[in-house]
Amino acid sequence: MRLTVIGSVALDSVETPFGKRKEVLGGSATYASLSASFFTPVNLISVVGTDFPEKYIEIFRKREIDTAGLQRKKGKTFRWKARYHYDMSYAETLSTHLNVFEAFRPQVPESVRPKDNLLLANIDPELQSYIFEKIKPKGLVACDTMNLWIEHKRKDLCKLLKKVDLFLLNDAEARQLSNEKDLLDAARYISSKGAKMVVIKKGEHGALFFSRGLRFIVPAYLPARLSDPTGAGDTFAGGVIGCISKEGKVTDKVLRRSLVYGSILASFTVEKFSAEGLLKATQKEINTRYRHFEKLTRF
Ligand code: AMP
Repeated sequence: MRLTVIGSVALDSVETPFGKRKEVLGGSATYASLSASFFTPVNLISVVGTDFPEKYIEIFRKREIDTAGLQRKKGKTFRWKARYHYDMSYAETLSTHLNVFEAFRPQVPESVRPKDNLLLANIDPELQSYIFEKIKPKGLVACDTMNLWIEHKRKDLCKLLKKVDLFLLNDAEARQLSNEKDLLDAARYISSKGAKMVVIKKGEHGALFFSRGLRFIVPAYLPARLSDPTGAGDTFAGGVIGCISKEGKVTDKVLRRSLVYGSILASFTVEKFSAEGLLKATQKEINTRYRHFEKLTRF
């Protein structure tokens, strides 16, 4: 099954205890699309400015990522600047410049069909809703978010929750959204707001899946070394929905496997800066880590 991804395509400036990069390829839709493209063809819907390097667009084109929905508008590309300290579960956002995203009301290219699955990767929930209404999706709809939108666009986010099959967010965001300390209570609250399935990402501690009939946990795949956690959550989301799209059905087994793949893809992202790790990863390496994951978690 094809997958449509909408979210940010960005130029990130990031500093971690292991180094720094200035204005490199980033964005929620970037990581999610690259990750999902290991499993299924992707239609990317996003916007960049006139300053966005063509070489980055080439990266998408070289994969099974259709860029008909990636618009180039007059102005500057979305920019995000952040710093991580030794506890890399938390990114200190130094600045966010929406730039061309501020007035972005995307056109949906013909190649995007309502029957495809849809990932609303992290971006303003108003924009996520706009694209949802434009596509009127019939496939599975997954949605990711972040603390900024929970704080400033809570109403829009809660409206969107009712339409979403699979909602992903990290543990701090789940607590922020639900006002619950316990993660199971938080998942219960989010599911009571409408999301049929909830995935709470816990960074290096893995992820928790919650739905009415199914609950399970998946550990994180431990990377060889940690360089930059940027995009781990988006990569995870892309891997999960990409794997579900490839399978073409939602069963317990598929859900469990898709979260494992999400963890494995994220491990490639955090090993290097920007999307370098993800771009270097091969199908063979992913399969090797999958088998290793089985060994690590069997008891
Ligand atoms: P993650 O590390 O998975 O939480 O996501 C980091 C990515 O999200 C970076 O590549 C940023 O460009 C992007 N990002 C940061 N803030 C926002 C925002 N407000 N809206 C959309 N994307 C964002």
